[in-house]
Amino acid sequence: MDDEIADVTVVGGGDVGLLTALSIRQVNPDVRVRVVDDFQREIPQVGKSTYREIQQLLHGSLGIDESRFISEVKPVWKASVYFRDWCGRPEFHYPFDPPDKYPSAGTPNALEHYYYLYEEAHASPDHLTRCEAIVDHASSPWFYGPNGDLDRYDKVAYHLDTERFNTFLRTLCRERGISLVDDEIVDVETDGNRIVTIRSRGQQYESDLYVDATGFSRVLRSEQDVAFRDFGFPLDSALNVRIDRGLADVIPATIVESGDHGWFWHIDTYDDRDLGYVYASDYVSDEDALDEFRAYVDSVDPAAPSAGASGGAGSVLDADDVDHYEFTAGYFEQAWVENCLAIGNAEGFVEPLQSTALTANTSLAVQFANLLSSRGQRVDDDARDAYNTAVSRTWESIHDFVGVHYSYSTGDTPFWRDVGGMHVSDRVGRIDAAFDRYGYDWTVDIPDDEGFADLKVFSLPDFYTIMRNLGVDSAFYESLDVTVSDDVERSETERYRQIRDQVATNHLTTRELYQGVLNF
Ligand SMILES: Cc1cc2nc3c(=O)[nH]c(=O)nc-3n(C[C@H](O)[C@H](O)[C@H](O)COP(=O)(O)OP(=O)(O)OC[C@H]3O[C@@H](n4cnc5c(N)ncnc54)[C@H](O)[C@@H]3O)c2cc1C
Repeated sequence: MDDEIADVTVVGGGDVGLLTALSIRQVNPDVRVRVVDDFQREIPQVGKSTYREIQQLLHGSLGIDESRFISEVKPVWKASVYFRDWCGRPEFHYPFDPPDKYPSAGTPNALEHYYYLYEEAHASPDHLTRCEAIVDHASSPWFYGPNGDLDRYDKVAYHLDTERFNTFLRTLCRERGISLVDDEIVDVETDGNRIVTIRSRGQQYESDLYVDATGFSRVLRSEQDVAFRDFGFPLDSALNVRIDRGLADVIPATIVESGDHGWFWHIDTYDDRDLGYVYASDYVSDEDALDEFRAYVDSVDPAAPSAGASGGAGSVLDADDVDHYEFTAGYFEQAWVENCLAIGNAEGFVEPLQSTALTANTSLAVQFANLLSSRGQRVDDDARDAYNTAVSRTWESIHDFVGVHYSYSTGDTPFWRDVGGMHVSDRVGRIDAAFDRYGYDWTVDIPDDEGFADLKVFSLPDFYTIMRNLGVDSAFYESLDVTVSDDVERSETERYRQIRDQVATNHLTTRELYQGVLNF
């Protein structure tokens, strides 16, 4: 059915609801947009890490001035996901510039370069990309260029303080003519899958399009009959806490470490250190998971009494300070049904490894807004199908990428033994086969039916980076007897030396930037 969209009601003013409102407004200036949220409710604090596309989305697509953003939101720049310990593997990075490690197929003696990367450089502390060097030196991406100008290495993402970010987005919405209504939706009237109206206790809201951005409450979506694709990941619970930390101790990476029944995160924001434990409740009780989390928090908290290092009574962590989340990894197979579009946690969620939710949903919000604009705000089933395809490709790609972290893991607890070797998807099987056959050269003409062209967010180099660091071999290199020439070794060593020196000499730390240069 053809619908003309002259006004939109977004229910839910969490980050994704506000970003969706801003996206729509940005390229559809005549569409009236309002956001209805029970704004008195505390903003969920979880979810502060992003990936590299966020800069382009915020400062490009949404036209948010970068200087103002830095001044008001005070992000911490993230250069990698730093796997400090993943089931006992040597530590490694998933940096935001992985292709910088990959020689192009056009490089003279490309095979030698690939082989050098395969054998030597992939996780060597002497072969750090600029992102990895930034983490190694605990720097920011900001540096003084040759003529003294302040400049930024741009292959980085953000760690955001949720309250600062959400407050900023609310301000921006008001400035851009989006009305923010403080109200709680308690009733959704439908006719089949079509929303007829939504009501709070004292008000009725009617719109051409409704957006469900109510997070896991799924207030509108749960009134529609839409198939849910359950990924079947066993991870379904998380604990989260914030501890004090000074700017001098900021680590510009999301740190990830495996636990007995899942994994811990460690995200530094401007104000504090955010720690979490994502675990599988089929394998551990909530009480035991909390004890394990306590021990972790104490081990990374500089203020923790050593007596608390084993958790329990001596721990610095009070159970009341810990937030608890539950989720099911999966998504609704159609994000946009009739006159209702679900987005953010209301639409789906994989799990927090690789911090994809906020950035992927912002990207989808921008895609939706662009589609609306390009169709002149008249939409039909073709438009819905196009958007729904983009959404499902996004979730499936994230699922596959996150999945390889588990399927190639080699941990030795019941949880890790079960996820190690699990079947992620047929496509991941084909990615594995391609690595075996062609090694790092992903420019070879692989048939379309492999599904590689459908990958969104993460592409083959991203998969190969994780796989190789988790010990995956490529039969192609294993079967060759390649000698890396002195020339190749010298040029690679020199390239990495220059990167290291540049970061060590020119880059500012987060504290130097905020307290010395920007003077906040
Ligand atoms: C353990 C965990 C870790 C995560 N880590 C990350 C991470 O590192 N990076 C990342 O990008 N994402 C992460 N996420 C996802 C993160 O939660 C989302 O990216 C982000 O919070 C945006 O969510 P949202 O806006 O969809 O929902 P929410 O933030 O939950 O917002 C929903 C809004 O809807 C409103 N609402 C609900 N019901 C009603 C109603 N009836 N009427 C009116 N308003 C209503 C609420 O008040 C709220 O403001 C994580 C999630 C979990 C569970």
